[in-house]
Amino acid sequence: MDAVAALNEIAFWLERELAPTFKIQAFRRAAVAIEGLSRDALLSRASDGRLKKMKGIGSRSFEVITQTLEGGVPEYLADLRERSSTPLADSGSGLRAALRGDLHCHSSWSDGGSPVELMVDAARSLGHEYLAMTDHSPNLTVANGLSADRLSSQLELVERINDDGGGGGRFRLLRGIEVDILEDGTLDQSPAILGQLEIVVSSVHSKLRADRRTMTQRMLGGIHDPHTNILGHCTGRLVQGGRGQRPPSDFDAERVFAACADQNVAVEINSRPERQDPPDELIQLALDAGCLFSIDSDAHAPGQLDFLQYGAQRADQNGVPAERIITTWPLDRLLEWASGK
Ligand SMILES: [Zn+2]
Ligand SMILES: [Zn+2]
Repeated sequence: MDAVAALNEIAFWLERELAPTFKIQAFRRAAVAIEGLSRDALLSRASDGRLKKMKGIGSRSFEVITQTLEGGVPEYLADLRERSSTPLADSGSGLRAALRGDLHCHSSWSDGGSPVELMVDAARSLGHEYLAMTDHSPNLTVANGLSADRLSSQLELVERINDDGGGGGRFRLLRGIEVDILEDGTLDQSPAILGQLEIVVSSVHSKLRADRRTMTQRMLGGIHDPHTNILGHCTGRLVQGGRGQRPPSDFDAERVFAACADQNVAVEINSRPERQDPPDELIQLALDAGCLFSIDSDAHAPGQLDFLQYGAQRADQNGVPAERIITTWPLDRLLEWASGK
């Protein structure tokens, strides 16, 4: 087994089970440290002690690398594979199987933990047909949101990855953004840039405690922008996890979902375990309003792309028909829908 692949796979499984970041990064860093070293180079460094002293190599990653050099699957990885053989969610597997891709994720260009290329590798290994790269917009400075220039550079990278075959097969990386809906209801990126994108997820990330009228107007502004395809994590609530809890924002959900249905904006079912957004009762309201849905991972690391299982479980429990979920559609149909606003 290839040592870099083993280290990255370990990180993938750890991300999937929400292990602490420092633990995951130790493996990701080790993978970067030995990238480009041939098997022979690794063998000689392992035998004369240089490998152990290399920057980015800890005792656990050293053990993993040496075990791959001995020709086997490292014990640590074998244990993780064993532990991860049970699905994350205990229902919704039928719907999960119907999902073809993911329209919301982040890379290290904004506040994600890994380069775009590793997100692509993981998406492909999960069998995705596509992944939209949706890093944050400039207003979200805490998340290192992308300026117009940086987004333009990222779009060139997306094109290069697709030109290289996205790692082979029919996989496609889509040009996207998670753009802030600003306080005045406008989107935090120029129409010229938004017009170049295939998927625009519009989300509120600030002043989440605004009064009902203010929040409703703000969201309606975002939904009516002709570029918006998906309304991201609509309530902003947090139900568990390291960032603590946060109540849902207060807004007129009937008006918001009526506008989504009218404007052809899909309501996101955000799969992150700490978000579980929208809550069940709002999924029901959105269903009644005739909305479409998008089950997205909002992954900030490769292993989190597998969170789609949680979103599929919630959609299934709420009786959302597969046909109403845009991420079950063939990519051609999805892109036609997204560009037809
Ligand atoms: Zn967000
Ligand atoms: Zn996001």
